[in-house]
Amino acid sequence: MLHSKHSLEHDTAAASANGQSSDFSIDHKWDHISKLLKKQIGDTEFRNWIGPLSVCAVQNRVVEIAAPTRFVRDWVAMHYADKIKRIWEAAYPGDVIGIDIIVAPEFSTPMEAANAATANDGGHTGGNTSLAQSYAKDDGQTEESSEVNNTQSPRIHCALDPRFTFDNFVAGESNELALAAAKRVAESSTVSFNPLFLYGGVGLGKTHLMHAIGWAVQEQNPTRKVMYMSAEKFMYEFILSLRHKDTVSFKEMFRSVDILMIDDVQFISGKTSTQEEFFHTFNALIDQNKQIVISADRPPSDIDGFGERLRSRLGGGLVADIHPADEALRLKILKSKLRHMPAVSVPEAVLEFLAEKITSNIRELEGALNRIVMHTELTGREMSLAAAQTVLQDLLRAYDRKITVEDIKAGVAKHYGTRPADMDSPRRARAVARPRQVAMYLSKVLTPASLPDIGRQFGGRDHTTVLYATRKIEELMSIDPALAEDVEKLKVSLQHL
Ligand code: ADP
Ligand code: MG
Repeated sequence: MLHSKHSLEHDTAAASANGQSSDFSIDHKWDHISKLLKKQIGDTEFRNWIGPLSVCAVQNRVVEIAAPTRFVRDWVAMHYADKIKRIWEAAYPGDVIGIDIIVAPEFSTPMEAANAATANDGGHTGGNTSLAQSYAKDDGQTEESSEVNNTQSPRIHCALDPRFTFDNFVAGESNELALAAAKRVAESSTVSFNPLFLYGGVGLGKTHLMHAIGWAVQEQNPTRKVMYMSAEKFMYEFILSLRHKDTVSFKEMFRSVDILMIDDVQFISGKTSTQEEFFHTFNALIDQNKQIVISADRPPSDIDGFGERLRSRLGGGLVADIHPADEALRLKILKSKLRHMPAVSVPEAVLEFLAEKITSNIRELEGALNRIVMHTELTGREMSLAAAQTVLQDLLRAYDRKITVEDIKAGVAKHYGTRPADMDSPRRARAVARPRQVAMYLSKVLTPASLPDIGRQFGGRDHTTVLYATRKIEELMSIDPALAEDVEKLKVSLQHL
């Protein structure tokens, strides 16, 4: 177990050795890549979906591409990310290992793309042509937010999602305490509790609340320096600073902020050196009476692999949990999300159906709504309840059938001819490790189980091992069509168990 954690940290470090490319070379390359992509997908699709994108940075050999809205991001991630990656690999072998599509309106050019589209089409825009644009236009706060955001460093620029504001967060019993605490942190100039520790299962709004704090603080007092970062990014930056023997500026970067927010802090559990640095940063800020906000998928007391000192410090402020939303709140959230989408009408019955069926988390709920809206927009017909069931078939089947991690382990072992016990064993030989990674990946995709849950069900492994496995399989699938097909087949057969 310890071993696998190390290999993850090591992987990241090794990858980061390649550092960042210069802006010139990224823009230049992106130019080239987009031309090739345009040839593949044609002008219309290109204009609608690729035009609004721009390259933010290449870090750790992963290209960060900015999309103007979450919707465009999801669509591009689903339909073009693999293509982009393949073209990139072919054009610049060994250059990148992944494509990361993020939402950052101020980096992309939605309006230019929209104008170009109208001009070129001579008004004959039909079908999906208007989709990316209408979403871009619909993003009412985009311009305002980027203005507020101008004072920040590019790193933060990329980090805050304009949709994650307090206005867009729907209050309910399950998130009441966390929301109130987040607002208090955002509004008061003095520190009332330190740190604010938000915890809850995946997709329940932790990141949303943290970004909301960021936006609110920027709005009220733009001179206050806010820094938001995932724990993963924290680790990456730290490792980079070690490599460049520049930990001094790393320390300074953090210690000069007024509010530091670190998301998904469970990620650094067990990573001793990163944790140590985090602990020092944390203490330095607390001593200066600077506000800290932390999120994790578990309360501080449950994070294994954190030293006792850190654990007690993390729990020393206000610990607020977010529970899964009940059906009424799920419906409210759906309606709120719909208001921020283009004028597509979705019948109440369909929304109620979604709220009733999709229980695991809000992210999935939103994904389902996106599909419904996309479908409605593309077909131009209002969605009936029966059609919604068809469109969401695979998602719903996962709920109805309740595929379990056990089913997946058994199915995958059978498929690869390994023993089911190998799924739990510590053996790391490729012949058993690869099927195990596939099973972890499928568990993540097909069940609502969280990474720590999945880890526990694979012989008590750490969630970082599961994370690594899912990424590894995704990565392999994107370059190895045979494996991709294999995994797809397994997925379908499991869904039809
Ligand atoms: P977490 O960080 O806890 O995994 P996120 O903050 O990323 O979850 O939330 C997942 C999605 O669900 C986001 O799109 C977020 O906007 C949405 N969401 C979660 N809770 C709410 C809420 N109460 N109101 C509106 N949107 C929500
Ligand atoms: Mg999150």
